[in-house]
This record gives sequence, C-alpha cells and structure tokens, in this order.
Amino acid sequence: MSINPTRPMRVRFAPSPTGFLHLGGARTALFNWLLAKQNNGVFILRIEDTDAERSTEESTGQILDSLQWLGLQWDEGPYFQSQRLELYREHIERLYKEGKIYPAFESPEELEAERERALAEKRNPIYNRASLRLPKEEVDRRLAAGERFVWRFKVPDEGHTDVPETLMSGAADCKFENAAMGDFVISRAGTMKEPGWPLYNFCCVVDDALMGISHVIRGQEHLSNAARQVLLYQAFGYPVPTFTHLPLIMKNNKKMSKRDKDADPAFPVSVSGRRDLGYLQEATVNFISLLGCSYPMEEEIFPVDVLIKNFNLDRLQKSNANFDEDKYLFQNAWYLRNLPREDVVERVKPFIEAAGYDWERAAPVSHGAEKWLADIIGLEIERCKLLSEFPAALSYFFIAPSEYEQRGVTKIFHNEGVPELLDAVAEALLLTTPFTKEAMEDALRRLGDAKGLGFGKIAQPVRLAATGRTASPGLFDVLEHLGREEVIRRLVKAKEWLQSNPKT
Ligand code: GLU
Repeated sequence: MSINPTRPMRVRFAPSPTGFLHLGGARTALFNWLLAKQNNGVFILRIEDTDAERSTEESTGQILDSLQWLGLQWDEGPYFQSQRLELYREHIERLYKEGKIYPAFESPEELEAERERALAEKRNPIYNRASLRLPKEEVDRRLAAGERFVWRFKVPDEGHTDVPETLMSGAADCKFENAAMGDFVISRAGTMKEPGWPLYNFCCVVDDALMGISHVIRGQEHLSNAARQVLLYQAFGYPVPTFTHLPLIMKNNKKMSKRDKDADPAFPVSVSGRRDLGYLQEATVNFISLLGCSYPMEEEIFPVDVLIKNFNLDRLQKSNANFDEDKYLFQNAWYLRNLPREDVVERVKPFIEAAGYDWERAAPVSHGAEKWLADIIGLEIERCKLLSEFPAALSYFFIAPSEYEQRGVTKIFHNEGVPELLDAVAEALLLTTPFTKEAMEDALRRLGDAKGLGFGKIAQPVRLAATGRTASPGLFDVLEHLGREEVIRRLVKAKEWLQSNPKT
C-alpha cells in the first residue's frame, strides 16, 4: 500500500511538549517533511499539549527551535491542542448523541479489582461494560448529580479493524480483533459541569480529520493506537489516513526511547544536545534520514535535495534501525570538509568565542581578522570532526604554550644545541620579509645549510616552540598565521624555558 492518490498530501508532526526533541522524534518529523516536499504536500506542526501537568512552554520552545535548526519548517501551525477544546467537546457530544460513546462511572479502584478478577479467571481484562448496562434513567440521574465519569467508546462486538499501513502491511499486527479491544476511554474523569480533558486517541483523530491529514508517519509504539483511531474515524464518518509506523531505533542492541534523557554528555539523544556538541544540521539530517531507510546508492552522504528526490515510503525498512555513532561522526566530518568554508567559519565562531578566544584581537595586524580565522580553521579542519573540537585544536593560535608536549621535550628540545638554534631561527625570521611561507622556508633552509642541519632538525624544535605540540599543520602556515612578533616571542620564551628546564 502506498500514497493515496485521491487525497492532497497533508502530513503532520505532532509532538507532546514534555521534553526536548529527541533524535527519534526528529526522524519522524523529517520523514513527514520529506513526504510533503516530495509530493507538493503540506507539513503541519501540531503540539499535543493536553496533558497540562507534563507539558511545558519551555519544551514547546525547544522543539520548535530544534525543528527550525534542522530546517524542517512547517507550512501550517503550530496548532496547540490545548486551544482546541471546544472542537473536541463538540465531537464528544456528537458521538454521545449517536450512542457511540457512553459515560462509565467506575472508580480506578473498582476497575483494578475487576481487572484482577478477570486475570485470575484467565479472561481478557478488558472493561466489562457495567456502566453500559445501567438503565438510562439511572445514568441521567447520576450525571445530573455531578458524579464523576469517563467517556468510553463502544467498540463493535464482532469483526476486526484493519489499520491501513504501508510498512507493516500484510503482518498480522495490522488486524485487530474488535472483541479483544475493549471499550476504550476517550476522556479523563470529570463531571457534566467540569468535563475531563479528552485523551490522545480522541484529540488526535479529531485533529487529523479536521486538518485533512492524508498520511500519518510516526513511531511503532502507536500501532495499537491506530486501531482505536480507525474505529473513531469510522464512527465520525471521516476518511481514514494511511499510516506508516516506523521501526524502533536501537543503539548497542538497546532500544532508544523518547523518554531517554541526555544521560551521556558525549552522546546526547536530543537534537539540541547534538547541536551544542557541534554536530552539523546537514549531517544530522543525513544521519537520521538513514535510520530505517535504505537507498540504492552506495555512499551514505545524502544532502537534503538528494533526499527529497529519492525518499520513498517503499525504501523504509521493517526491521529495527541501528544508531551508529561512528557513522554520524563520519558524516559530520564529511560535511565539515565539504560545506562552503565561509559557512563552516560562521558556525565555528560561536564555539571559539565561547572558549573565550577573541579572534579579532588574536589575528596579527598584517592579516584581516575574518580571513585569518577562516585560514586557521582551514589549517585544522582535517583534524576536527565536530565544531566543538575547533577551540582545542586551534588553541595555540590564541595562547602561547606555557608547557610543551613531554615527548617533544625529551626527543626534540633536549637535543644538543637547541637553545642556540632557536636563537638563530628568531634572528633569521626577524629579517625575513615579507613574513610569508615561501620567504620563511627559504630563510630556514639557508640557515640549515649554514649549520649543516637537515630541515627536520630545524622544523621540529621551531614547531614545538611555536605550538607546544609535536604535530601541527604545515609549519610555515602556522608561523605565518601567528605573525612575526608572536613567533619571535615564542621562540625566545622556549629558549628561556629550556634554560630553566635543562636535560637532567
Ligand atoms: N503526541 C504523540 C507523540 O508524541 C503523537 C503521536 C502521533 O503522531 O499520532 O508520541
């Protein structure tokens, strides 16, 4: 089963604002968005905030932010269920008048006792319809007296309900025996004067119907809700949308749940947590688009325009998706290197600034600060996989080393004649004009020739003095971007350090 060609494509993402946007939720949003984009459809955002105790504005704000960051802009909404109560009430009234729902007066304790009895007698513990059997006069009297009740939907006694499903189709999972379902509750407890809030299954159907939703893509955990929802659509005479229930996402053989918190700071499950760690929007969209979806192309780099062209419900897999951190990181590194450099620079900036590095001040006067920052980012880009790795990778451009890599001290600094060599390099560089890579390389090669030293013997101590590290991007690139004054200062400082920390 696939897209219903007779209805305009209208899809929605309907998060409950009880926490941040989880990567799994983001996948649901993305697949809906892709389906809309691909079919000239409409992508609607609906906030399911009827659970007043657990819903927060902060969470709504965070979900909206995350969706926008991902680029999943909605065409309609956000609609808030908390503002649509009147519509739900009208629909409840309609079903009551038509005899399709009824008030049930049992307290939670009574229901629990009945449930245990049913289990002990090895019966399906569905509601026993005690309230449905009450005489009409008694029901009216109890309602008028202000007794508390919930609304229950009268499920047909016979037959079965089929969920029109694209992914699980054919599986027995999509056929639900009505007799086994039980008359489900569609509202919280309340009185006629103070009615309880309608519940998820009910609001969802009213909204999806009124919003003209043609296709619902959501998590597998909602498949059994879908059967109840289909019954509600039928009761109202509304067209039933087509459903796609996505497989679970597994990480290290454990199910990822929307209730997972950001327990491990290195591997947050929230979209915002990944953003703050320096994962790129493009990589995140690419990565989640592959969770449970496969493409005929070999490589796993799918920029969003390729996704829009190639996404297809038929590509979704029934089997659980595997959340592979290494792949996510690999894709992030790929986008870092392949996005327009100016764009990457803009995204690195906040991380550099948050680390307390003032790049405008650190840039040598001979370089324009913007260009300088872009250059040094370019120098370290191959070594970084996340935006958050840049401050540490680039730290030596902002702070002169106060200590030196131990391995370098032993193997390089403590060689014979290094203090004198550092002096000679400083002197040579003082006279090197212009202070460019080519001129410096020329000057140091000449110095090497004069001293009978191979190039490495000069480059290694200079690198260690300038960066504190034994490995760096091209030495002359580094020196050029440190600027002459700073390089000389660091060479002198290294020499002094060596004098106070001689080989023992
Ligand atoms: N509010 C529900 C959730 O967050 C939405 C389910 C649906 O898409 O119908 O799981």
